[in-house]
Amino acid sequence: MTQFGTQSHPLRVAIIGSGPSAFYAADHLLKQTSLVIEVDMFDRLPTPYGLVRGGVAPDHQKIKTVTKVFSKVAAHPHFRFFGYVEFGKDITHAEFTEYYHQILYATGAQTDRQMNIPGEQLSGSHPATAFVAWYNGHPDYRDYQFDLSQERIAVVGVGNVAIDVARILSLSTEELAQTDIADHALEALSRSQVKEVYLLGRRGPAQAAFTTPEVKELDDLEESDVVVLPDEAHLDELSRAELERNQDKSSMKKVEILQSYAQRPPGSKNKRLIIRFLVSPVEILGDAEGRVATLRLVKNELYATDAGSIASRATEQFEDLHVGMVFRSVGYRGVPLPDVPFNERWGVILNQKGRVLDPETQQPLPGEYTAGWIKRGPSGVIGTNKPDAVETVNCMLEDVAAGQTLSPRHPDGASLERFVRERQPNYVSFEDWLKLDAVELTRGQQQGRPRVKFTSIDDMLAALGRTETVEQ
Ligand code: NAP
Repeated sequence: MTQFGTQSHPLRVAIIGSGPSAFYAADHLLKQTSLVIEVDMFDRLPTPYGLVRGGVAPDHQKIKTVTKVFSKVAAHPHFRFFGYVEFGKDITHAEFTEYYHQILYATGAQTDRQMNIPGEQLSGSHPATAFVAWYNGHPDYRDYQFDLSQERIAVVGVGNVAIDVARILSLSTEELAQTDIADHALEALSRSQVKEVYLLGRRGPAQAAFTTPEVKELDDLEESDVVVLPDEAHLDELSRAELERNQDKSSMKKVEILQSYAQRPPGSKNKRLIIRFLVSPVEILGDAEGRVATLRLVKNELYATDAGSIASRATEQFEDLHVGMVFRSVGYRGVPLPDVPFNERWGVILNQKGRVLDPETQQPLPGEYTAGWIKRGPSGVIGTNKPDAVETVNCMLEDVAAGQTLSPRHPDGASLERFVRERQPNYVSFEDWLKLDAVELTRGQQQGRPRVKFTSIDDMLAALGRTETVEQ
């Protein structure tokens, strides 16, 4: 067997996806000094960075500076980006195995969880993930329509995504105009009639999934008052005991902030962002045209589970909230990749520490790995993906040392590039992306904004001097 991992026979790794976990994995691979490794990163979109571009809120520019770290990784001579190349469509799993010793899946969680309540499919009931992708200019979502003529909107869930959605709906046009929100969303939101946004938590303030800085920053909204009901902000004995037992300072601070909102006299701004606790949606009721009109809520109470956590259960008290739109923000969910083992229950690729497992034998499949949300589920902040990716890469390195890899017929970069060009002549390299990036930044500068995003793939290709039909 040829020894690989050398200058003449580098270890060839494909990474599918180009979000944070993909880049942290590439970084750790390319930092290895005892092996020569070449990394090719693929994304179905022409643009890299996954949820940093398509998920992080447009008014959270500081978080996006992490792309500086990623672009340094991309500058490594052994790194290549193949954007606008879809795994399973342009190139199949079997074809990837012909070119690489190892394949790492880092495709994130591309869809949402459902609430599974009647009326969820009514017009005006949307996944928060679609709204996020729309305002961030994801090409697949640019034509979505959200009826912003509604005055009252409910967002179900109290995680950081829910709070992002509620905040974007509450920001003034002037505040939004300083961000890199997609132009179509800026335009639509500038005509928004939304006056009240309800964030709905099924448990209490101590169990809210959003983080402290996110709830604190709501106080700075120019046009919107934050409202919390005093009896819902009250810390029950179970939660108090748990916070004290765990010395959970961060949740204590969060509760303190929520209670300070609850103690305020009514504000005078023209919009309200209302955070509710201990309520669960049980049904969405429609009007005569089948549009969302009412969200029926049940009041919950908290109890300690046998496993020691604090859960909610329904009482017999109901409440109708009249809203014209409902966003469910109850978590993302992974999507299976063709020919890659998937755990339907958890919505992740079947794996152990990042090694993809054969569903029959539960043993690792040689040369196949996963990292990020598609490995562990949709939790944690961007930085959480670093140790997660390192864990996977360490398994990859151990397996190389043990001779457990794929056996590609064409383990060289030039053959792969020829093959990609055949399948997707319009693939976008990292140099191409840097050109698109420069255009977006220049357009942003002209408008006093961080960037003005391309939101259509055709426009991106046109800016690179290509069209869909032109073969190179
Ligand atoms: P999340 O943090 O898991 O929050 C999900 C929320 O949905 C929780 O409040 C959960 O309540 C609730 N929920 C789940 N099922 C429900 C149901 N059937 N009915 C009512 N409520 C339900 O998920 P996320 O907000 O999608 O965020 C995903 C990850 O991205 C998180 O780790 C988040 O911190 C991160 N993120 C970070 C930022 C940031 O750093 N600024 C921004 C966006 C996202 P329970 O707790 O009761 O289950």
